Amino acid sequence: MNTFQIEQSCPQCGAPANLEETDRLFACPFCRVTSLLLTHDYFRYVLPARNPAGKDLVYVPYWRFKGMLLFSLPAGVEYKFIDVSHCATDAPAIPVTLGLRSQALKLKFVSRDMPGRFVRPARSFEETLAAFNRRFGQALPRPILHCAHLGESMSLMYSPFYTTDKLYDAVLDRPVAAAGGGFPDAGLAGGRPDWGVRFVAALCPACGWDLEGEKNALVLLCRNCESAWQAAGSRLENLDFGFIAGTDDGPLYLPFWRIRAGVSGVKLKSYADLIRLANLPRAIQSRWEEQPAAFWVPAFKIQPQLFLRLAKMFTVSQSSREPQKAIPRSPLHAATLPLSEAVESIKVLIASLAVRKDLVPAKLSEAVITPNECSLIYLPFVRKGSEIIHPGMQTSISANALEWGKLL
Ligand SMILES: [Zn+2]
Ligand SMILES: [Zn+2]
Repeated sequence: MNTFQIEQSCPQCGAPANLEETDRLFACPFCRVTSLLLTHDYFRYVLPARNPAGKDLVYVPYWRFKGMLLFSLPAGVEYKFIDVSHCATDAPAIPVTLGLRSQALKLKFVSRDMPGRFVRPARSFEETLAAFNRRFGQALPRPILHCAHLGESMSLMYSPFYTTDKLYDAVLDRPVAAAGGGFPDAGLAGGRPDWGVRFVAALCPACGWDLEGEKNALVLLCRNCESAWQAAGSRLENLDFGFIAGTDDGPLYLPFWRIRAGVSGVKLKSYADLIRLANLPRAIQSRWEEQPAAFWVPAFKIQPQLFLRLAKMFTVSQSSREPQKAIPRSPLHAATLPLSEAVESIKVLIASLAVRKDLVPAKLSEAVITPNECSLIYLPFVRKGSEIIHPGMQTSISANALEWGKLL
């Protein structure tokens, strides 16, 4: 599979438009109104039936995941990029995956007025993801300490079927190979869809000003009242944010999640604890015992090796400078990685930081992460040729790697 396009008309003026799967903001080229796409959980799409007229279509749900699996092993972290689908219900004749589907197919959001019968998923996304973890982790050496996922797309896709004398795949309008007669849906609960995407005008909930953000941004900013917002279910929620000013002219700010969290079984209250865990060759200063430890996780999509390298580097170097609570004037890179996934990556981060394995529980995957304080902090980088450099760190990111992350 690959990236699909979604056919959707503008909620304000009705003009037809195409969206990308990762778009969260829709700026209508006709009426110029920008809308936010919201859902309380997952986006749900339907694959189009080729010749729908006069058929009783049954829509079968498939979980779709495109993104990265991170496996934390004793020797380091392994990554797998996967782009998979799996049927969310059990019916013997129904294909287990969606298979390869043409990118020319235009999806639609599920809506409450769609005709057809929508089968209810019998398995949660989490169960399906655990199965992917098992499948893709099979070839890795044991023990696997923890798996995390960094998703580009997580959605529910409904694929239409119908029966005459045989079971037909309605997308291809072809019989399903190996299926007998009749629709094998006896006992599959379903009915009319009870979901629709929510469109909300992209206006600041505090002051009514236009919110600013790239089309795939998960965090939107109001330059009028200097506030930041993220989708929380079907509404916008105020987000603690700030930036650490750069010293050079013309910095480029990259967003990081700064997460202060408790981790069960790991003593990680202060920065000093963190230095001990990572066994860094640094004399521990007494004030570090008081400085709360924070995890700094990139809030943007990037290759997993770089993602983890940046997270480790900024976590161990934790700036004690207090961020300013304002929106910098210089360019900002969009926050495209949700906080929930940043929190999920913390165990992988701990496993790869922990040189002192005796300070980490053997069953790290069972540890409970309790985020106490989460902020989005923009850190200053500078562009030097094709590299993006953080002045205080011995590191550079190629501008291509950042662009690559945007395309995901
Ligand atoms: Zn419009
Ligand atoms: Zn505002």
